[in-house]
Formats: sequence, C-alpha cells, structure tokens
Amino acid sequence: MYLTQGLHRVLQQRPDAVATVFGQRRTSFSLLVDRVARLAGALSKLGVSGGDRIALLAQNSDRSVECLLAAWWLGAVTCPLNTRWSAPEIAYALKDCGVRVLVVDDAFASLVPELKALAPELGPVIHAGEQATPEGLLAWEDLIAAGESREDARPAGDALAAILYTGGTTGTPKGVMLSHANFWISSVARMAEVPNQVQAVTLLVAPLFHVAGLGRLVSQLVTGSTSVLLPAFRAETVLATLQDERVTDVVLVPSMLQMLLDHPSFPSCDLRHLDRIIHGASPISPGLLERAMKALPNCGFQSAYGMTETAATACSNGPYRWSEGTTLGPQALAAGRVCYGNEVRVVDADGREVPSNTVGEITIRGANVMQGYWNKPAETRAALRGGWLFTGDGGFMDNAGYVHIVDRVKDMIISGGENVYSAEVEGALSRHPAVAACAVIGVPSTAWGEAVHAVVVLRPGETVSAEALRAHCRSALAGYKCPKTIEFREALPLSPAGKVLKTVLREPFWGSSARQIN
Ligand code: ATP
Ligand code: MG
Repeated sequence: MYLTQGLHRVLQQRPDAVATVFGQRRTSFSLLVDRVARLAGALSKLGVSGGDRIALLAQNSDRSVECLLAAWWLGAVTCPLNTRWSAPEIAYALKDCGVRVLVVDDAFASLVPELKALAPELGPVIHAGEQATPEGLLAWEDLIAAGESREDARPAGDALAAILYTGGTTGTPKGVMLSHANFWISSVARMAEVPNQVQAVTLLVAPLFHVAGLGRLVSQLVTGSTSVLLPAFRAETVLATLQDERVTDVVLVPSMLQMLLDHPSFPSCDLRHLDRIIHGASPISPGLLERAMKALPNCGFQSAYGMTETAATACSNGPYRWSEGTTLGPQALAAGRVCYGNEVRVVDADGREVPSNTVGEITIRGANVMQGYWNKPAETRAALRGGWLFTGDGGFMDNAGYVHIVDRVKDMIISGGENVYSAEVEGALSRHPAVAACAVIGVPSTAWGEAVHAVVVLRPGETVSAEALRAHCRSALAGYKCPKTIEFREALPLSPAGKVLKTVLREPFWGSSARQIN
C-alpha cells in the first residue's frame, strides 16, 4: 500500500487522462509519471534515499504535486511547510525534520540565503518556480531533463510518507508523522462514503501543506482524476477557475466559501458543473451553509471533520442539496457519520465513555491515525493513549451515530457553573442577517467565573446594535448561553488555514498564558 500505486493503474488504463492543470499547463498521467520517475532519479543522484526528508516550501502548483510524488516514488518523506511561516519558523521545521533537500518556488527563492544562514546543515535547494533560477539553486526542469528514470521504490504501507505540521490553532504546530497506509486508508474510507468519480475535476486551492489539501490530492491520485491547482485563494480567480475548468469538486474552509458568496462576480458565474463542495477544517455556521445551499441549489454540500493526526477526514456527512422548503436539520450541520475504518468514542475527563448525546472529548481509533508527533515523545504520549487518539475536540454522538463538534476542549466556557459551547452560540448569532462572521469566547468574570463574550463582524453596509443581537440570541438560546458582551470588529484573526484564532481573541482578557479548564 503505497501512495504512487494509483498512478500505475491509471498508466495502464488511461495514460492520456489529465492529471494536473496549472494555468495554461495540462499534464497527462503518462507525462506526469515520466517526469516523476526522472525527478526521483535526479534526487537520488543528489544523495536522497528512502526515509530521507524532502521539504517543500511552495504554493500549490503542478510542480508541487511532482515534488510530493517524486519523494514518495523514492521512498522518501515529504515535509510540506506552511507558506505563511516566518523565516525562523521555517528554519525551525527544516532543522526539526533534518531536511536533506528543500524545494522552493518563486515566492520563496529569495528567502533561501536567510534560511541557509539559520539552518546551515541544509542540503541542496531546488527551484521549482516559473522565473529564472537564482544562482546557487538547482533548476527543476534541468533536473528532469537530465534525470535518469528510476523504478518506483514501492515502500511498505507503514513507511513514513509525510511529516505534516498541525494548523497551530491552539499552540505551536506539531509535526505529525503519517504513513503511506494512513493516507490510503483515510482516502478509501472517505470514498466509501461519497465516491470520488474518475471523471471528477477537483480544484485544489486548500494548501497542500494542510491535510485537507494533501488528503484530497491523495484521493485524486488513488482514483486517477484531474486536479486543478491554484497557488493561493483569491475569490475572483477561484470563481473564474470553477467556471472555466468546469470544476466538479472543491474543498473549502467555511471562510473561503463565505468570500466566494460575497464576491460581486458570484451571481454571474456559471457554476452548473459544480457538484460537490466539501467544507471542513472549522465548523460551518448554519447561516452560511443555508445561504450557500440556496445560492447553489444543484450542488451537494458535504462536511469533512478530521485533523492532521487522522490524515484528513474521520467523519463526513451528506452531500445535502437544497430543495424548496428544506430546513437544515442538526445532522446537516454535524461533523458527520464516522467514516468506515474509524471508531469514535466520546469520553469524560477520566477517559470513560459517556452515553450518546453527552458532551465529552472525541477520541478516534483507526488505521488512518498518525504514528506520532515527530521528535515530540511527551506530546505523542498525551495524544495517543491505549490505541486511541485524544483529539482535544469536545463533542457528542447522537442516537443516529452522527458526531457533533461543540468546541475545542480548551475553548469550552464554564459560566456560572454551566457549560457553554461556543459553536452553539456562534450558530445562533450567525443566523442574524446582519452577521457575516462571529467568534465566541469565555472572558474572566467575577460574578460568573467566565462570561460569554462575542466578537462579531457585520456584513458590508449592515448596522445592528449589541442589544438587538443579544435579543436575537435570547430568542434561540437559554439565558446563560447568550453573550454578556458583544464587540464589533472589521475582521476576525484567522490562521493560515482560515480558522479563527481564539487564542488571539482571548489574549487581551487572559494574557498570553494558556488558560486551564478542569
Ligand atoms: P493545532 O493542533 O496545532 O492547534 P489545528 O488543530 O487547527 O491546529 P488541524 O489538524 O489542521 O490543526 O485541524 C484539525 C482541527 O480542526 C480539529 O481537531 C477540529 O478542531 C477542527 N475541525 C476540522 N474539521 C472540522 C469540522 N468539520 N467541524 C468543526 N471543526 C473541525
Ligand atoms: Mg489540533
């Protein structure tokens, strides 16, 4: 079970099928495999061998895909690095992973001297950009032209395929060790829920350094369908690409979906080919999901809940489509059914399973669960206990087996002795027509221990008072769950993956030290 396995099958059956589309460049599977085998040959000449780490510091492109595949073809390990990191953060990861070769695109070529100074043991650097290759760097196309094709190493399923850093939403990102089998199982399990058709055209705009993007790419490779790559999220370009490339499937973080709907060119775009929007990485608000479903009535909406540690999706629902009179039931807003091959157990603080409909910590077991955190034995021991992954997510399982996420365990609010889950309050707020985005946190309160505080971004041109919003919440929620205070902002602080950074919102109230909730 190795990640380039799907390529061999496509090569035998549909060698001319389009594998990647990047700008004007369309690459067939046969050409892709030829380039990957040559690249692997060139990398091996540079001294890379099985198990070595190859870092990728680049935006999404067809060459980024080639880089990942060439590493796997060689039996090496890919380390796709977060393109939003600063030079010291990148250097930390390069050193942490003991990277043998670094691949950069145009956006990062100029950073190389600084990175070399910060991580002096760094080996050869390859430039996979479109512009002229700077001095001292090796050119991608030269390597491929000169590379001697190599046989696929066909590593065993338990061989390490990637070290992927977590989003850093709750603290310092951790390097998650994922094997070939971890990715395969996660892909196949997801496809058993909603098949990924051979003729699907998937837009990969979620970054490949994030498990949502990388996991989806793996599914594309397993089925041999087309991946359209965009280097960065710009609503206008995404809409144009969805239309022009007749994209059928796209993975979007809720904040991206919101930006697409808000864009002035959205109403005039022809998105009739769009069959599935997979949303995940953070909770989707009912207001946003309803709006998106109404705006795209022919498109199915499917949630994906998972994390870097589970090699992408562990739970999934839908796809749900809008029809007249539809009301969004709780299951449409849930993280979803547990994917085949995964087990979910909701446990209390002592690790004992709680009954259905009771909130606890979500734990997951399955062949997709990581091998551990790279170089972090203590964190690994805390996360993997008795064969179960402790996710740090609070949620419950309903009687129909749907998992619902209510909060990060660290974000749960205890106000006046009552538990308040931010997802529920955010859901109520988001149903107000003036609210574009919101985040709910607990802030210190002498009367309540913690008080519910909401940070709200209004839709352009809208005004509403805090009192009116509180009244709106009171009509939907028990009094103790309603925000005691509401603050309006232009935007919410987001992580590179588009998640609300509640640590940043909490900081002015609590200071930078982590808040403990027992
Ligand atoms: P860090 O672990 O460094 O704090 P992170 O948890 O954000 O960062 P990821 O592994 O990218 O890093 O994200 C996984 C987390 O994202 C999950 O644990 C969960 O909290 C959240 N998440 C993912 N999908 C969903 C979803 N569909 N609904 C709600 N939350 C989700
Ligand atoms: Mg996490």
